[in-house]
Amino acid sequence: MTAPRDKLLPRFKTIIDYDRCIGCGKCGESCSYGCIFFDKEQKKPFVKKQENCVACQRCVIFCPKEAIEIHNYPVSYPPHALWSPYHVRSIIEQARSGSVLISGTGNDRPYPVIFDYLVWDACQVTNPSIDALREPVETRTWLGRKPKHLSIKEVDGKFEIDDFPPNVMLSTPLIIGHMSLGSLSYNAITSMYKAVKEVGTLMGTGEGGLHKDHYIYKDRLIGEVASGRFGVSPEYLDIAALEIKIGQGAKPGHGGQLPGEKVTELISETRGIPVGTDALSPNPQHDIYSIEDLKTLIAALHEATEYRIPVGVKIAAVNNVAAIASGIVRADADFITIDGFRGGTGAAPRILRDNAGIPIELAIASVDQHLRDEKLRHKITLIAGGGIRSPSDMIKIIALGADIAMVGTAPLIALGCKVCQQCTTGKCSWGIATGNPELGKRIDIEWGARRVANMLRAWTAELEEVLGTMGIDAVESFVGNRDRLRYLGPNPHEAEILGVKHAGERITRGGE
Ligand code: SF4
Ligand code: SF4
Ligand code: SF4
Repeated sequence: MTAPRDKLLPRFKTIIDYDRCIGCGKCGESCSYGCIFFDKEQKKPFVKKQENCVACQRCVIFCPKEAIEIHNYPVSYPPHALWSPYHVRSIIEQARSGSVLISGTGNDRPYPVIFDYLVWDACQVTNPSIDALREPVETRTWLGRKPKHLSIKEVDGKFEIDDFPPNVMLSTPLIIGHMSLGSLSYNAITSMYKAVKEVGTLMGTGEGGLHKDHYIYKDRLIGEVASGRFGVSPEYLDIAALEIKIGQGAKPGHGGQLPGEKVTELISETRGIPVGTDALSPNPQHDIYSIEDLKTLIAALHEATEYRIPVGVKIAAVNNVAAIASGIVRADADFITIDGFRGGTGAAPRILRDNAGIPIELAIASVDQHLRDEKLRHKITLIAGGGIRSPSDMIKIIALGADIAMVGTAPLIALGCKVCQQCTTGKCSWGIATGNPELGKRIDIEWGARRVANMLRAWTAELEEVLGTMGIDAVESFVGNRDRLRYLGPNPHEAEILGVKHAGERITRGGE
């Protein structure tokens, strides 16, 4: 008998207080993981499979009587400083399946979060602050290549800017990263598309192409050109910007796969493949083996779009990211997206998600400085994402060198996500990471759009406040302004790579 050895011990304990319970059944309806079963005859909920609980908290939130609590299981594995539950569970799962472990969301290992070691400056006597409630603070940002000089020409007695590369105006330096229909539900994707259109920012389509219902949002979407080329059609190219996906923070060097069972009618229409076919994106782009090859694809996309829109490249933050970014600028990209090792995903091999790549804070500081040293920085828009959790992370990443901060998990949290890491299962109880149309209906599109738009606006308002306290009246003047940051962490070498002084370090000028 092998089954008991195979069993994974529960991580969470579901406690139902029967004195408070009124037998409404909402917990049973909520639990898409088969942990709670509601017996309609007895009008009573039962914990049927404790090991299935993922702490998604849906039952807790929907119980009208606060009769449910989810706790950590008292002792799911005996404590051990080396053999943590993470390692023991992983071995049990692989002994059972013999396969690569796949997980959703981002890297959850306890690496230090460098954002938490950074603080910023504020004006005091000689450099007055700006009152953002009464005085304008500019948060508009432009995505696209910038010329070295502005050249002005006269047309019919009027002066116009001549030969300016295509740029997309954003109301805020904050965008939503690529998430595809299929990895997320129709309602979740539509909510976010509506939100970015309303706010005047951008979102990435992910590698799945664009559903016909979503063409109304195309002037606010960055279309992904991934190695599988799913959904890349002439209509798809009529979009705000295009981005060639070389790498992703959650799985650097890896492609993607949507299993055939998830390729429903809806996904088949969007990706342009038959229902039930595996959608495989190979690890490399099979026509790119050098910067020259990348340059050829960028040129082809510029040609195909008649030079109307910016064409960018997304890479994962890896060891040599600064040199790679320099090559991409030379390959004529209009923007570069750098995705740090905490970047989210619908599904990634856990071994890559948890161990490959470098933190976005170090990557962006290194890229920004390298491009400045090579006198290339002014040409390009830099987008940075991968673990940006708050307006303060957004502000810090801009000070470290990004023009635009990119978020993914944060808007999902605005839609109800509890970061339970079960995106790969397709059972998302919040109706977000699922292809099940019934679960997807758990998100009301209007409600979802309002929530995400609120979040984007609130972050932008906090950015304005903070810039005001630093006496900066336009976010563009803050990009790469590392002198306004200070470091509070334990590692001076880290501060050196970031280009940030330690807190309390004196500013010395003129050989003082
Ligand atoms: S999986 Fe979610 S809904 Fe089900 S018991 Fe656990 S917390 Fe409640
Ligand atoms: S949701 Fe709450 S009140 Fe309703 S059956 Fe479940 S535990 Fe009882
Ligand atoms: S999207 Fe859903 S499944 Fe994925 S982490 Fe969030 S709540 Fe869990």
